[in-house]
Amino acid sequence: MQLYNTLTKKKQNFTPLNTAGATLYTCGPTVYNYAHIGNLRTYIFEDLLVRVLRTEFPVKHVMNITDVGHLTSDADSGEDKMELGAARDGKSAWDIAKFYEKKFFEDFDSLNCTRPTIVSRATENIKEMIALVKTLEEKGYTYKTSDGIYYDTSEFPSYSNLAGAAHISGLKSGARVEFNDEKKNPSDFALWKFSPKNQKRQMEWDSPWGVGFPGWHIECSAMAMKYLGPTIDIHCGGVDHIAVHHTNEIAQSEAATGKQYVRYWVHGEFLVLHAGKMSKSAGTFLTLDALKQQGYSPLDYRYLCLTAHYRTQLEFTFESLDYARTSLRGLSDRVKNLQDNAVDKAVLAALKENFLTALRDDLNAPKALALVWETLKENISDGTKKELIKFADTIFALDMFKTEEVQIPPEVQKLLDARAAARKNKDFKKSDELRDEIAALGYIVRDTPQGQKLEVK
Ligand code: AMP
Ligand code: ZN
Repeated sequence: MQLYNTLTKKKQNFTPLNTAGATLYTCGPTVYNYAHIGNLRTYIFEDLLVRVLRTEFPVKHVMNITDVGHLTSDADSGEDKMELGAARDGKSAWDIAKFYEKKFFEDFDSLNCTRPTIVSRATENIKEMIALVKTLEEKGYTYKTSDGIYYDTSEFPSYSNLAGAAHISGLKSGARVEFNDEKKNPSDFALWKFSPKNQKRQMEWDSPWGVGFPGWHIECSAMAMKYLGPTIDIHCGGVDHIAVHHTNEIAQSEAATGKQYVRYWVHGEFLVLHAGKMSKSAGTFLTLDALKQQGYSPLDYRYLCLTAHYRTQLEFTFESLDYARTSLRGLSDRVKNLQDNAVDKAVLAALKENFLTALRDDLNAPKALALVWETLKENISDGTKKELIKFADTIFALDMFKTEEVQIPPEVQKLLDARAAARKNKDFKKSDELRDEIAALGYIVRDTPQGQKLEVK
């Protein structure tokens, strides 16, 4: 499989370091608010990656839950998003972490994202984070300021490798990260923050340096290395993480272990709104629930995401979501009407090969999706088409073969019974009138060899 590696800026052949399988770490949600559909695009891309990797290797996938320490500013100033969320919702930080984590997994599951092998909460790994900071201190990479223990990036010469030197000079001019008087270098970052004097935080722990809480970057390094070892095959996240979060993860992990931290950095581009950036903190975000309330299914959104390559920005519009919904319904309808006749094994093998070749080429989902549509038009047996699409759906996970269980209201059932009787009597005029009446109530009737089937319009 070929993957674009942000570190080398090239598409590279991927093989796991260890013959036992691939190791993958994906940055998980900060559970202070609902996930927005931009965040969910990233989880869908990561799920696609997991599913394609698993066609070749076993995958151990670790995802964290950031339930402490992610501050409102990348400069390690500002407030902890968790404590802010707690104040906003009038609950404790612990309660909102539990609440939004549960909600996150509801979204995750409804999008058919595969649950990671291990989900790891930051608050349950404080000991490991402290140990990592201690190692960095012993190796001379840290210094103390009035508000925490900081990492001295000037001690790590390859600091700008992932993001590029231009980013670091951006930092120097203060363009991206606010200036902090006590930092030795603008790009230095907090490993451990002290609780403010005379104030008890809801989430705080003892440490060799004083009561406080971990920095967001050390959380991911500690949890990734705890479960996956010092060198991880693939690490993912959105492109926003390249310049600060992942750059800092590399600096602290490699300084501590002396080994390469991640072999392949794979980043997903953003989902954007016409108006600009979708952001939780700015309050300009759409949730999956909001889409559901407008009658879309989570898988309509998954389909939309699959129509764009993960490394291109995707502009969200309701028109494109409508198009995705119509396409998915069209695909499912066609698939359900395919006959179970003979499968041409040689043709099927060639089709599967093409399909996988597209996906193994840096996850070219739009091309793989187009191949599925083309297969439907080909002059081959229905049975062959059906087997190919069944296989495709183990990766797309669009539930193309699932028939929705429709709860039929009694008034609709009455009309359906009357229509069945009309059809039995070959009164097709009456049957059509009843179909229109049923449509007016929001349902579509389909006549199948097994009888009438009802779908929500
Ligand atoms: P957060 O919960 O803010 O830590 O973000 C969770 C994931 O969503 C991270 O991998 C981010 O890089 C990613 N992300 C944030 N905003 C967007 C967006 N608009 N489009 C795609 N991914 C995003
Ligand atoms: Zn992370």
